[in-house]
Amino acid sequence: MTDFGFTRAKSSTVNLDEVDTSLYRRILQVEPDVRRCMECGSCSAVCTAAPLSGMSVRKVIHALERGVDIAPMLSGCMLCGKCTMVCPRGINTRHLILSLERYYKKEEKA
Ligand code: SF4
Ligand code: SF4
Repeated sequence: MTDFGFTRAKSSTVNLDEVDTSLYRRILQVEPDVRRCMECGSCSAVCTAAPLSGMSVRKVIHALERGVDIAPMLSGCMLCGKCTMVCPRGINTRHLILSLERYYKKEEKA
């Protein structure tokens, strides 16, 4: 095969039939508003923690929907609530983060 000096990027396709979305379904029971997210990124744009830790509620929701582990992302959140104030869909993003943290704390105890 000819060497062009570069390779194709690995596919980022997610097969939703194969990933574990149980956490997303569980979170929807306590935070049903998450369904309304349109991934506009307003929450991430104003996030106090974003420049320091890469925190992004948009990414958290995106990853949740795709069954990706989001625990490492949550640690950067300062719970300031700015993301909640700007969400055009009225999602209480701060409360979502608290619910996710509660879930992970329960998992640790179990
Ligand atoms: S601001 Fe609201 S609608 Fe926009 S990405 Fe964040 S959570 Fe989703
Ligand atoms: S509550 Fe957390 S995610 Fe939302 S703006 Fe503040 S630091 Fe960022």
